[in-house]
Amino acid sequence: MRFLRDLIDLLLPEQCAGCGQEPVLLCDTCARPLRASARPVRAATAGIPPPWTVAAYEGPLRTILAAYKERGRTALAAPLGEALATAVQATLTGPSKGTAVPQKGAAVSPKGAAVPSKGASTAGDARLEDVQAGPVVVWVPSGRGAVRRRGHDPLRGLVEIAVRRLWAEGVPVSMMDALRQRGRVADQVGLTARQRAANVQGAVEARPCVAGRRVVLVDDVVTTGASLAEAARALRAAGAEVTATATIAATPRHRPW
Ligand SMILES: [Zn+2]
Repeated sequence: MRFLRDLIDLLLPEQCAGCGQEPVLLCDTCARPLRASARPVRAATAGIPPPWTVAAYEGPLRTILAAYKERGRTALAAPLGEALATAVQATLTGPSKGTAVPQKGAAVSPKGAAVPSKGASTAGDARLEDVQAGPVVVWVPSGRGAVRRRGHDPLRGLVEIAVRRLWAEGVPVSMMDALRQRGRVADQVGLTARQRAANVQGAVEARPCVAGRRVVLVDDVVTTGASLAEAARALRAAGAEVTATATIAATPRHRPW
């Protein structure tokens, strides 16, 4: 089935990843929710600051995220990463207008400042030492099996784009590959809130390099908050301060609008 879908993607001209109706990566209608401003989600989640989020995880956005994560449409990293940048920035400087369309040249750093290059190992990257005092963006880790199956770590790719975007706007953040899944974790899909919390309990460990850092913890979607809460626990256990959380989207239970 997956093979068939991939084959269709390969053979047919590119169609909007959200609706499949227009011959573009993402049509205006499907891209619009990703360009909104960020807001804190409504439902409180124990153990984490309320996540800031941009869009509702429903309709075409579900298809768009699946196309990026599971079906290898890596070009979607740009609009998704921009939305994540909006949410992260809101946690640092308060809500701003939506990021709208990425500006030309936005990836150029101000005054030659170091920008993490795509694919660079940012943890311990000498070029990022200048921003050691600033907050660090850490993402909820995918299981090793999921990374192998997908052939990439999709969230990492989005964080890279978001951090580059923020650097371009003069926001002194960096990123750190600080979290690891400790072992096998069952897929969270289809589990209740309580089952999700139990499923991920103790599942994540943080690298010591995060000690003493202020962390903005990010994920693509907040569902029950269990994955974010477990990641926050691991970060605190390693001596980090989790100052904020941010996601691209929130499920209806959490939606702030
Ligand atoms: Zn569309």
